[in-house]
Amino acid sequence: MLVVDDQMGVRRLLYEAFKEEGYKVELAGSGLEALEKVKSEMPDIILMDMKMPGMNGLETLHEIKKVNDSILVVMMTAYGELEIISEAMKLGINEYITKPFDINELRSVVKKVLDKNLNRLKIKA
Ligand SMILES: [Mg+2]
Repeated sequence: MLVVDDQMGVRRLLYEAFKEEGYKVELAGSGLEALEKVKSEMPDIILMDMKMPGMNGLETLHEIKKVNDSILVVMMTAYGELEIISEAMKLGINEYITKPFDINELRSVVKKVLDKNLNRLKIKA
């Protein structure tokens, strides 16, 4: 799993929460860093913040999809960003969650996306 968020507090929270669940969690603080991690770590799923300085979530999503089209993406958006969400949907995100969210809510969203796409995930030794 790759967590992309410009806020360290969010990265730390999600790292702890998902590591505890047994996920291998990589972190990125920007879109550029996320792109590097997508290439080097080949995550199965990305939890990505929409609002980031520099490359925002949508631009980052664009670039990531060029590198790996089958990667699963859950977008973390602010309330009311409906236009951005529909843009992201067109680019093929799997799910989105509105900030602020409950960590249990995000856990179940991630689980749902993974369960639904098990056949798309490659088996890792
Ligand atoms: Mg942000």
